[in-house]
Amino acid sequence: MKKDIRSMTFDELKKEMQEIGEKPFRAKQIYEWLHVKLSDSFDEMTNLSKTLRERLADAYEILPVQMEERQVSKLDGTNKFLFRLFDGNMVESVLMKYKHGNSVCISSQAGCRMGCAFCASTIGGLQRNLTASEMLGQVYQIQKITGERVSNVVVMGTGEPLDNYDNFLRFVRLLTDENGLNISQRNVTVSTCGIVPGIRKLAEEKLQITLALSLHGSTQEKRRKLMPVANKYELSEVLSACDGYFEKTGRRVTFEYSLVHGVNDTEEDIRELTAILRPRKCHLNLIPVNPVRERDFVRPSRENALNFKNKLEKSGINVTIRREMGSDIDGACGQLRRRYVKNGI
Ligand code: SAH
Repeated sequence: MKKDIRSMTFDELKKEMQEIGEKPFRAKQIYEWLHVKLSDSFDEMTNLSKTLRERLADAYEILPVQMEERQVSKLDGTNKFLFRLFDGNMVESVLMKYKHGNSVCISSQAGCRMGCAFCASTIGGLQRNLTASEMLGQVYQIQKITGERVSNVVVMGTGEPLDNYDNFLRFVRLLTDENGLNISQRNVTVSTCGIVPGIRKLAEEKLQITLALSLHGSTQEKRRKLMPVANKYELSEVLSACDGYFEKTGRRVTFEYSLVHGVNDTEEDIRELTAILRPRKCHLNLIPVNPVRERDFVRPSRENALNFKNKLEKSGINVTIRREMGSDIDGACGQLRRRYVKNGI
């Protein structure tokens, strides 16, 4: 088995080079090829001797993240990508262009085992975890293909990042490393369905990344109906883990709430949400649910969503409705991949 070289930290790479009898500065050169020049082949590393390049190719691999499909929105320039991994698994990533910079949304797993009722990514279950290299590869490829500098990264694509904790953490450290792409930790957001031990552990890592918690229900009972993970971790525990994250890192937590018509968009939900969120320094992001072919959830009308937002705002909640990007290209999150999985391509 070849070693996954793009998942190695700079210190690990230095040690590797030492072990194979190479000078330490080789590690610096290779690291720069991988994480600054975003190279995906040893052949490109022209300041290394041919012999060393061959030695590297024999012992190590740069896991491929190969573009299979790209869709570009005519409305707002959003790009959706479908990438093929070494074993044929497919993952989706998205590039969104905002005034404040370019944001990339990446997947952390091929598939997902969390089973949220409205989500397309979980329908075929979990195939496997992505390595740090495969998460980085999505960002690097998008920067290379589009020529656009990526300034923000959100881990909100397919998969539950805290169900793939070690690889995810390694990814964040490499992505924000000053010797690599050097993306500011404050520009990285991780979204979780609420894996309490993962949130607690992340709070201890001394990172400045933003935590986004998928709330979607205003009580334990309502949340449990939409998110099976709530059977394992009660809403009260999840909220207390989020409070811990804020206390330890000073970073305000974002709560995500997919608005589903007739399910979680009632007056009662407004009251319950206010009770949960008002005492907390946090932000609430409302996402009118994206219809998924295999599911029959309906989003509220624009007017109802605005009404829901305005009432929460009046009761003192810091709230926004997520701007919809790329609505003219392939459906909701996870659906580009679903199309491939279903057709068995
Ligand atoms: N597993 C992580 C991250 C992936 S999903 C998590 O659960 O947070 C990113 C966000 O999109 C989550 O808040 C998720 O609940 C939401 N989401 C999934 N499917 C959706 C849909 N059809 N419409 C609106 N939001 C959806």
